[in-house]
Amino acid sequence: MDAIPTPAEAQGLRTLFAGNPVIGQAERALRTFRNDLHVRDAAVLLASWKHAPELSARERLAVLARFVPPPAARCARCHARIRYVTDGPDPGWWTHTDPAGMRGEGARTPHEAAPDYGHGDEGGNAGPGWPLR
Ligand SMILES: [Zn+2]
Repeated sequence: MDAIPTPAEAQGLRTLFAGNPVIGQAERALRTFRNDLHVRDAAVLLASWKHAPELSARERLAVLARFVPPPAARCARCHARIRYVTDGPDPGWWTHTDPAGMRGEGARTPHEAAPDYGHGDEGGNAGPGWPLR
């Protein structure tokens, strides 16, 4: 499986390859399987796509970048630091990196890390679908 870009790397790659017809064609080919495809499944499908060998390693990352969420630093429920898992056999999800930093109601309730795009303290890019503040 190809490496998966971090949310920050993915953000840069999406900007760099915006409107690129080759990357767009690859993304559309993968989304024919499922529109809300998980990046982990996108990586597996991309590896078997017939045109994948024609893409450079960087172009393959640019395709996968379109399936990675925007960067976030904190969990929306407990405000502890989080990171997006990009390695290992099961990448593509958020995890708490500092459970001791959990606060409030979220600290008392077991929960999955949820990226916080609401406070604008991660550089102000709330990404599509969220209000920019
Ligand atoms: Zn949390």
